[in-house]
Formats: sequence, C-alpha cells, structure tokens
Amino acid sequence: MQQKKRKKEKRRDKHEETTNDFLADNNTDVNFESYPAATLRDGLRKSCHPTVPHMLNVHLVPHTHDDVGWLKTVDQYYYGGRNNIQHAGVQYILDSVVEQLLQNPERRFIYVETAFFYRWWRNQRPSMQTTVRQLVDQGRLEFVNGGWCMSDEATTHYSAVIDQMTLGLRFLNDTFGRCGRPRVAWHIDPFGHAREHASMFAQMGYDGFFFGRLDYQDRSHRMAKRNQELLWRASESLEPPHADLFTGILPNGYNPPDGFCWDQSCDDPPIMDDPDLEDYNVDDVVRRFKMIANAQAKVYKTQHLIMTMGSDFQYENANLWYKNLDKLIRYVNAQQANGSRLNVLYSTPSCYLQELHRANLTWALKTDDFFPYADNAHNFWTGYFSSRPALKRYERVSNGRLQTCNQLEVLGGPSSRKGPFGAGDSETLRKAMGVAQHHDAVSGTEKQHVANDYARMLAKGWQRCQVVVSNSLAALSGSSAGRVYCDNLNISACPLTEASKEFSVNVYNPLARPVVWPVRLPVNGSAYGVRDAGGAPLACQVSVVPVSEATRQVRKDRGHAVNELVFLVQAPPLGYSTYSVSRLQNGPPPASATPGPPAAIQNQFVRATFDPATGLLASLTNLETQQTINLTQNFYWYNASDGNSSVSDQPSGAYIFRPNSSTPFTISSSAKTQSIQTPELQEVRQRFGPWVSQVVRLHSNSKALELEWTVGPVPIEDSLGKEVFTRLDSSIRSSGIFYTDSNGREVLRRKKDFRPTWDLKQTEPIAGNYFPINSRAFIKDDKDQLTVVTDRSQGGSSIQDGSLEIMLHRRLLYDDVRGVGEPLNETSGVFPQGLVVRGRLLLSLAPPPLAADAHRPLAQENVLPPLLTFTKGGPPPGALLEVCFSGLQAALPPAVHLLSLSRWDDDSLLLRLEHQYQTQESKQHSGPVTVHLQKLFSTLEVVGVSEMNLSANQWLDEMKRLDWRPTTGGRPLKKPLGDPSVWEVTLTPMQIRTFVLRVARRR
Ligand SMILES: [Zn+2]
Repeated sequence: MQQKKRKKEKRRDKHEETTNDFLADNNTDVNFESYPAATLRDGLRKSCHPTVPHMLNVHLVPHTHDDVGWLKTVDQYYYGGRNNIQHAGVQYILDSVVEQLLQNPERRFIYVETAFFYRWWRNQRPSMQTTVRQLVDQGRLEFVNGGWCMSDEATTHYSAVIDQMTLGLRFLNDTFGRCGRPRVAWHIDPFGHAREHASMFAQMGYDGFFFGRLDYQDRSHRMAKRNQELLWRASESLEPPHADLFTGILPNGYNPPDGFCWDQSCDDPPIMDDPDLEDYNVDDVVRRFKMIANAQAKVYKTQHLIMTMGSDFQYENANLWYKNLDKLIRYVNAQQANGSRLNVLYSTPSCYLQELHRANLTWALKTDDFFPYADNAHNFWTGYFSSRPALKRYERVSNGRLQTCNQLEVLGGPSSRKGPFGAGDSETLRKAMGVAQHHDAVSGTEKQHVANDYARMLAKGWQRCQVVVSNSLAALSGSSAGRVYCDNLNISACPLTEASKEFSVNVYNPLARPVVWPVRLPVNGSAYGVRDAGGAPLACQVSVVPVSEATRQVRKDRGHAVNELVFLVQAPPLGYSTYSVSRLQNGPPPASATPGPPAAIQNQFVRATFDPATGLLASLTNLETQQTINLTQNFYWYNASDGNSSVSDQPSGAYIFRPNSSTPFTISSSAKTQSIQTPELQEVRQRFGPWVSQVVRLHSNSKALELEWTVGPVPIEDSLGKEVFTRLDSSIRSSGIFYTDSNGREVLRRKKDFRPTWDLKQTEPIAGNYFPINSRAFIKDDKDQLTVVTDRSQGGSSIQDGSLEIMLHRRLLYDDVRGVGEPLNETSGVFPQGLVVRGRLLLSLAPPPLAADAHRPLAQENVLPPLLTFTKGGPPPGALLEVCFSGLQAALPPAVHLLSLSRWDDDSLLLRLEHQYQTQESKQHSGPVTVHLQKLFSTLEVVGVSEMNLSANQWLDEMKRLDWRPTTGGRPLKKPLGDPSVWEVTLTPMQIRTFVLRVARRR
C-alpha cells in the first residue's frame, strides 16, 4: 500500500486541526488520511499474497523471537555480545532480513520487539530508512504486537503494560504511519495468558491475537474439537465486543515444523534440488511437508494453516532461511500441476487472520484465562509467579515512581525537564520500565546478571526522574532548596532524617483523591514535633518507636537510626503538602516494647486478637460492620523437588514450582512476640526464627490490617530448596473457591482442581492450583470476605477451605531445564548468605457486597503511594501555596482512577481516566460516572481534546476492528452511553478512556 505522507506530519496536522478547532468533525480533516477504513482493508489485502480457493493454503510466517533480555542483557542481545552464553545478535538479524527481503519481493517478515527495532533504526542511514519504509508500506516487512517488549502476562500490572505498549506503538506510528500499525497481538512465548491482557489488546485495536503456550491438556482437548482458534470475551464488565479478541493458538509453539528449520543454528537438511546429485531430496521434502500440513489441517477449522518459520534469535543469516523457503514454495506448489491440493505462500499473521475472517465461521467462546500453564503432568509453570520477589517489588515501586514523574513533568511545566537541578527526563525510566515488562524480566526467569541489569536500568531511570521531580517541585513551590530522596525507608535508612535536628518532608500524592498516609522515618532523637503545611502542630499524636531487631538485621550498616518517627500525613489530590519536623529537647520518652503478645490490637475500624500461647493471630474483626472471623496466620515452606523422584525428574526452578510433598514444613509453631502500643500506632513484632519475622500493624486510621513480613536469607545448608509462603487460615466457608485478579484489574473466580473449559486431570495438587496474584486475592462466603492486597506480583492458592496462601520467597538449588540454566538462588553483595526480602500484605474483612469499596482504593494506594522528598532545615518561608498544592480543581469521584497523566508533546498531554470498579461489584460505585475535562486541572486549561484508543496510536473514532461471531453466548451490542458533551466524559465500570489534551497554563 502506498503511503501518502508520514504519520508524524499527519499526527501534527490532525492534532492541530483537532485542537485548534476541537469541535470540528474529524471526518472533514482532509490533511489527515484520505483512506477510509474499508479501503485500507482492501489495501491490506493487496499486500497479502493471493490464496487459492478449495485448496489447503499454508501461510509461512518468517519470524524471529528476540527476548528483550534473558540469558544475556538487552544490550548484549542487540550487539551480539557474550556469544559464549548464547549466539544471538539482533542488529545482524535486522541487517540480514532487510537485505534478503530486497532480493525477492515475494518474501515477507514480521518484527515484534520495538525496544530492539528502535535501536536498529536509529543506527541506519537515511537511504536505508527510506528503503525500510518502502518495505513496510508494501507489507513486506510487517510489525506485529509492536510494544516495547512482549510482556509477561502473569506478573505484570496493567498500568505498566499499557505504558510499554504505548511507548512501542508510538514509535512505530511516528516512524511509519498507518502502515506501521500492528494489526495482530503476538505473545508466542509468555508462559500462560491473562484475560486482562486480552481485554487490553482488544481495546488497543488489534484484530486478533496469537500465542504458543497453553496447558497440554487444554491443547489436546482443543485439537480434538478443532477449537484452537476461538473468541476470547475478556471482560465481565465491558460490553461485547469491546473486550472480545479473536485468539489463535499456534500449531508448534512458535517453532517451524519438525525437519524444516533452516536457520544457521539448526541441523535440518537444506533443500538439495540438483537432480544430478546423490543427495537430491526435493521429493522427500515435499512428501514430509504434505504429511505435516495434512495432519495440521485435521486440528484446525479452515482451509488455511499458519506455520511459524523461525524461532529464538533466528535469521541472523537470513539467506539460509529464505533460500530454502523460496524453494519449498516453488516445489510444493509445482505439484498442483499433478493434482495436489496444497498451496504454500509467504504470509504474515494479519494476512492469515484475514483469511480466517473471510471464512465467515463462528468460533468457540472463552471467558476465563489460560493459567496455569503446564507442559506436562508434573511441570506447572507456576513458580515464576513468585520468582525474584525483590525484583518484582522493585518493578512495582518503579511503576509508581514513573507515574509520579510523569505527573510532575506535566504539572511543573517546561522547567521540569530543564531547571535549577539540571536536565532530567521521564523517558529513561519509561524505557527501563518497558524493558522490565518483558516475559523474562519481571517474571524472574532471567539469569542473575540480567536481573541485575534490569534493576540497574530502573535505578538509572529513577535518577533522571529525580531531577524532573526536584525541578517540578521547585517550580510549583517557588523554593529551590535541594531535595533529598530516601529510597531505603523500608529498612529504616535515611541519612538526612537520621542526622538532622530539623527537616521538612514534602508528601506528593499521585492519586486523584486525597490520602492520609503513615510516614515512618528513621531518627536518632527520642521526641519530635511535627507541624503541618499551615504551620500548626499536628492534631494527632506523633509516635517514636524503637527500630526493631529484624530491621537492624536487614539494614546492616546501611543506616544507624535507633528510633522510628511515625505520624500520619494528608496530601491533596495530585498534589503535595509539606510537614516540618524538629527534634525536641524535653519530649516524652519513645514508646517501649512490651514482651509477649497483647490480647488484641485495635482502632476504631479493626480489631485483631492474638493467641497468648503461640503469639499468632487468632481473629480479625471489622468493628464498623460488626463481623468477626477466626484467623490464624503462619509461615511455611514446601520442600522444592530436586528432580530425584520416580514420578518425574522435574525439579523446581525459576519457571516451575514442584513441591516434593504437598505437606509443608512449619517454620515455627509459635512466634516470639513484642508489642508496641501508642495512641497512633499499634504493632506486634513476631519472630518466627532467625530468617522469618513479621510486624502486625494498625495505624489509627487503618481500615486494613498490615502484615509486614521479612524473609531470608533462606537457609540451604540442609541442601533442600525452599518455597516459602504464608498461609491465612480462617473460618470462612469458601468451598474450594477463591478469587485472584488479572494484571491488577478484573477479578477471576478460581476453583480448586478445576478448569472452566475442560475436565481437568489434576496431577500436582499444590502447584496445579497456583494462580498469579498481581494486587489482590480473596475468599468469601455469604457473610464474610477476606481480601489480601499485595505489594507485588506473587503466586497463591487456596488449598483448604477457608485458607489462602501466598508464596513470598523461593530459594532453589537446581535448574528447571527450561533454558535459563541457573538455579534460582539469589545472593548479592549486601546479602552473600542469600537475599532478604521484605513486603506487606494488607488484610481487609468486609461483607462481600462492600468488599470492593475497600480493596479497590487500597490497591491503588499501594500501586501509587505518596512520594516523600526531604529538605534540610526549617519550613520554607512563605505563603501556604508554597507548602501545599493540588493539580486538580477537586478530587475525582471515588469510582474514577487517574491512570495516566504524562507529557505527550510541547503543548499536549496524555490522560487516561479509568472506572476502577467492576459491574455489580459495588452497590455504591458500580454505576456510570461523568468527569468534566475542563474542570479537571487547577493550573492547566484544557483547550483541545482528541479521544484515542487505549494505546494512543489511533483516533478512537477510526478504530475499526474485524468482527468475529461466537458459536454461543453472543449478546447484542447495547447502545453505549453517550457523553453529555464533548467535555463531559462518562465512564462505565472497568472502562478506561484515553485522551490527548491540548493544554495552556493558567495564571
Ligand atoms: Zn521469549
């Protein structure tokens, strides 16, 4: 298809046209794009090779799978460094493929990972860029998926996934325009598939989705019923077809059929076609290919088959592949003259998808997800849900920091990027987060040196963002006093607060509603006075408590505070407040710890009781609703299989969870306890042994009970790998049912030893019941719902009625033979004896109809916690505005979450508003809600608006997807709720709406 103008120019045209005259009908925009959608589809068809009716058409899809880090770092993979670990160099792949595409216009190639393509593109001369643009325009080089990486689906949070897709797709849009927009989502390698990913892909405008891995039992059932291509209805809240996604399961993972791998890394025989030669093998090749195609046709529905001709880092010498594929096509098709009904062609996933659509069939409907994934009876890929818990937490923390950085970059204006603290940017962290979403990054399935590299990139990105934050806060507050960041508050280390007699704390709240938040700072004084933004002493009391023994152990010599100063702060929506802290000479002594468990800790909302004999939790009460459950909690470990068993030789590893026995070891049946009670804070410090401790904590305003766990170094002197988990055992009658979220959003119902779409033969009673938990899990009965909100992605399950277990840490001694080639045995410079990991679980008890009202905001507060920055000395002089600011005119309604606010270009920003409740989840909040865009910001005037698709690479009104019909369960599309006006946008449950707003600064 011919491209008339580059998209970058068109985007500006469109943008200016729309925003200068924002009420104008987009269709009158003559500069933008003169092809209506229908013609575009025709154009797409022209770039697809014709197929032959009444024949079996085999679509050969040349492709490479380029992991954005795994056995090597992303840099090593790009350049081909460390080829002793794995021979792989992405720059050579792209060089070679382009050269080979130019040799024969029939050839096709798809490219997936924009993090790599972006690097390669920037290194090309203008003439090569022109050539590549032509290949893209002609459909010979096609982008599929197109995100910065191919994200993991089990351990990623939707907010970070949307960001990384937006990043990659924007590059493709800006560089290649409409012909560079991927039509197909392509997750050939992730280890199981999340429903929320399918929902997001649908809302990003993809026509279909292909993947390679699913449970082996599921696959065999689907093959028998020819249901390997299906329609995934991926939301219970969004009206069909908004979250409907056509989904295809590839026939051979993502590899070529056996005997047909012609990469330099493969050993299959090439096509030897000189009949004079002894090794002539064309007849044999054609015969084998026919057999494979006929077998494949028996398990798919249409006259079209797809074959993935490529694999990991293949096509570095693309000539080998293409020379043989050219011949394969020629010789197989030559048989048609002899009556063969087989037709082979170069193709792409979108060309294949188009033929499936043309077939005009109905497709089996699926409404659950593809977790967990087992490749055989004892090989469940449920370990990576929890592998590398410290990296998983760091990724989650980094997401919150990126959102904060994005917001402050917008609110502080141009001087945020270049100001009194120098030049900063959000791009470095955005790209690092994009890379971290990869299915061997946050998943924890990479080699140790690669995990270190991901963390290094996130840290570097945060440094660049700190400059943005400091500049922005200087612009907003008028004070350019130097700001200090304390990133180790979780281990009670912060040199400034430890040493200073007087300092101030700026609390920036990235949520669109006010928050009250407990601040906990390491100090060396015993009494402190705290004043709020108005200069008044805090109404509520300030607590000073001793640093716990567990914290001293984990922080080592990285801090020297003896006490912790705890007080509640309030911060306005999308804004900050400032508190000044000064050490008092004659204050009350710090609180002291009392040995033994208290009978109970409680505030006005929650009461938790303890068993005096064991020191463990005994019950939990919601004092507002007057409901109580019995609740005990303890720590356990499963002995990881070492592969030495008559049943199976599969060991537990980075990917695979396989306990040796379903009966766990208890770390200690009782805890040594201490308690601390002040008017503002009550905590019970439990020690379960030298490597497990916990604090059970309630602040005066908490509606949830906090469990702060510390696990490690996990001992391995006994040569036993350990899978450490905590288990909550309650009186809730859960009847084998539990619930887990999908990528932090919609919740799925799970049933022990059960799969909704096939008759499960359960072969691993523990590992086969584990599911990913991204931000919450719960169990319930008619009366009580116990929800656990997590601070990172973890695996979990409910093995017994009334219980919920969550995997916290894994330390393993064997590789699980899935490629990574290392046991998951994390140590570091600070922790040579094994990594120590600390985290928090928040427990909320409520009647089921009220539970979401608590856990939805609680989870958002955990994903986007306030950012604390510190300045030395007394409070900054001046007016109230300088110590207190809100970027919003008013808080958004409780159902609305401000998902994205980031700089788009010089005069516009990207805004995503999200309805954070599911339908029928909340009596109060599960209805439509309207937001007025012009009444949103306090310092920005919104002068233009364009609504985009979810990934912001298409105008929403131009997003037209292929329509697919389910065999059953189709519902007519209800007329969507209209917006009251251009400026007033209505959100329905679980809806996310994406806007590019042109803004001018007020004042
Ligand atoms: Zn991969």
